Amino acid sequence: MQTKLNSVDFERLNAYMKKAEERSEHFIGYPIARDFDYSELYPLLKLPLNNVGDPQVESTYDLNSRSLEQEVLQFFAQLFNAPENNWWGYVTNGGSEGNLYGLYVARELYPNGIVYYSESTHYSVQKNIQLLNLRSIVISTEENGEMDYNDLKQMIQMHRDQPVIILANIGTTMTEAKDDLIEIKKILRQLAVKNHYIHCDAALAGTYSAVLDLKPGFDFTCGSDSLAISGHKFIGSPIPCGLVLVKKNYKERIGRSIPYIGTVDTTITGSRNGHSPVFLWYAIKKMGIDGLRQRALESLEVAAYAVEKLNEMGISAWRNPSALTVVFPQPSLKLCLKWQIATENGQSHIICMPGITRKKIDEFVSDLVTEMELVV
Ligand SMILES: *Cc1c(COP(=O)(O)O)cnc(C)c1O
Repeated sequence: MQTKLNSVDFERLNAYMKKAEERSEHFIGYPIARDFDYSELYPLLKLPLNNVGDPQVESTYDLNSRSLEQEVLQFFAQLFNAPENNWWGYVTNGGSEGNLYGLYVARELYPNGIVYYSESTHYSVQKNIQLLNLRSIVISTEENGEMDYNDLKQMIQMHRDQPVIILANIGTTMTEAKDDLIEIKKILRQLAVKNHYIHCDAALAGTYSAVLDLKPGFDFTCGSDSLAISGHKFIGSPIPCGLVLVKKNYKERIGRSIPYIGTVDTTITGSRNGHSPVFLWYAIKKMGIDGLRQRALESLEVAAYAVEKLNEMGISAWRNPSALTVVFPQPSLKLCLKWQIATENGQSHIICMPGITRKKIDEFVSDLVTEMELVV
């Protein structure tokens, strides 16, 4: 391999790196923690780590981080109260892959099942449902983004002869609304639905909700059959990643032994990132439950501060209970681009993930105020 970039390409790379630095200074619209420091792990970037196949079955591809991945899985299995000796999971490329896996397991159990998910659900779920060729019904939502349980009940009632697969949101993308498993299970009971499966999309809020033990709960003791989280959101990682956990007896319908990799092909992708499990391992070891809890509390305070600041300026900002997502009417396109703020149906949000400071909120609010003054 050529040892050096030519000067044009060197300039090009430098310009890109500068731009990325600048963009990272104005990054409050997506749920991505920014307070991580993985520099101790940089030597690993020299190695082609690959966790191909099942994390619990050793592979002849021995240049992997399986042993650390298993500790990460153990940590989250405990956090989400997975049934002892009856859980399985792996570190994914992100929440979307975890949701795909959960729905895949559900389909293997209930090939005729119908997936019920709310209209506030992440866009990737619909694609996953299509990929799996599952039937589905979209449920309407309340103003705050939470599933309308009356609509859910009616829809299930109309299809009582089919197994029910619930895709519950533990923090919707736009407003961080949480579907209530207690309400959902009540409906399943009232309608005497015997064959059902609940997958929780906890990509956004799963980790901090569990660490803070927020109610209503959504873990395995609360009725989840599987759940997915993102690792690069609240925990933080330079590479997108996530984690899926399922009940082991369900998952055993999936996966075959592949002599070439000397392990079992139980995951969605073939090669799997071997670095991201190390990032996750490092983060949870460094912070521990107490550190994660403290970090979550600090972020909640920043979110409360953001709502207060915006309200003071006459902007009707609000957030769901214990949410890091602050919702407000869409500002100008210019501001949305500058601060990388996602907008849907006239609603925008900032997400006060770890690393977003009061100072950053002040900067943003000051931009907003300047804009309002220009309009007046
Ligand atoms: C981010 C997110 C996803 C997708 O997760 P990725 O890690 O981006 O694949 C799914 N659902 C919700 C609610 C999310 O916030």
